[in-house]
Amino acid sequence: MKDSTRKVFQLHGWRVDRAIHNYLYFIFYDLYVKIALYATKVIVALFSWFKPVNYVTGFIFNRYHAKVLSRSDVTKLINLNETVMLGPDTTNRIVPYKYANKIVLREPEHLAVMDCPCKLEMKNPCQPTASCIAVGRPLVDFWLEHCKKYNVRRITKEEAMEIIDSLRRTGHINQAFFKVATGGSMGVICNCCPDCCVSIRATRLARKVKGGQDISQFAPSGYTVVRDESKCQLCGTCARTCRFDAVVISNGTRTYHSDACVGCELCVEACEHGALSLRFEDDGGLIPLDIDLVRKELS
Ligand code: SF4
Ligand code: SF4
Repeated sequence: MKDSTRKVFQLHGWRVDRAIHNYLYFIFYDLYVKIALYATKVIVALFSWFKPVNYVTGFIFNRYHAKVLSRSDVTKLINLNETVMLGPDTTNRIVPYKYANKIVLREPEHLAVMDCPCKLEMKNPCQPTASCIAVGRPLVDFWLEHCKKYNVRRITKEEAMEIIDSLRRTGHINQAFFKVATGGSMGVICNCCPDCCVSIRATRLARKVKGGQDISQFAPSGYTVVRDESKCQLCGTCARTCRFDAVVISNGTRTYHSDACVGCELCVEACEHGALSLRFEDDGGLIPLDIDLVRKELS
């Protein structure tokens, strides 16, 4: 048995079923998301009128989901130099899910990138397809030993940030993924195109089911966007940049829908007039996965 495989089994202890799930998930990454999306499409097509279907969707979404990251948050995670272990008891305001909610990054200076399974599922995916980044030695070692077919390669922190910044410029948001099958914790940071990302597409589908409007496979970052009216030129760039219909400009008025905003920060980066900024207000809601803030809040 390869060393990285043995570590997967050690991670899950007596839950051999989860270790096998973990192993198969990354070995058949593209097939896995293809089946998950297809199943969601079939369920929604046949049962969108049937409210109890939301229990099935909730069961799946509680086990696999994402947390949206601002650029600053993702930069701090990529540049970590020490192991971080938080949760699950203290992290429910960051990742408000029942099971996969631990922030565990062992030896996070180890990084690797490989093809995104969601993009491989698409006929004409956004380019480049190499946009999933593993953070932490156990997962990096596993990918390097088992995932050569997904063009995996080790990268430096600088390369990771170059990938992130170039993809953000083409409308990709950053998400940290949490999964029961990977020990209930994060390990992968993805650059997600809202057209390709299965978590975003599955959420849109799930919301078509009667009573499923609040179901989501991804948690907003926890930030809202603030506009300085004195700087805003009503140019419309922010509305065109936003992929979540959170900004509308009509008849010379800009409307911001905070309930639709996921706090990805793309509009802030796109505004050439410096009129936008992110704000976190601790009103008892979600906390951003800003590792400095998290340590402060949870210490
Ligand atoms: S991009 Fe900036 S200047 Fe343009 S409408 Fe949006 S906030 Fe205003
Ligand atoms: S308004 Fe849209 S682009 Fe801006 S942070 Fe919110 S979701 Fe992202």
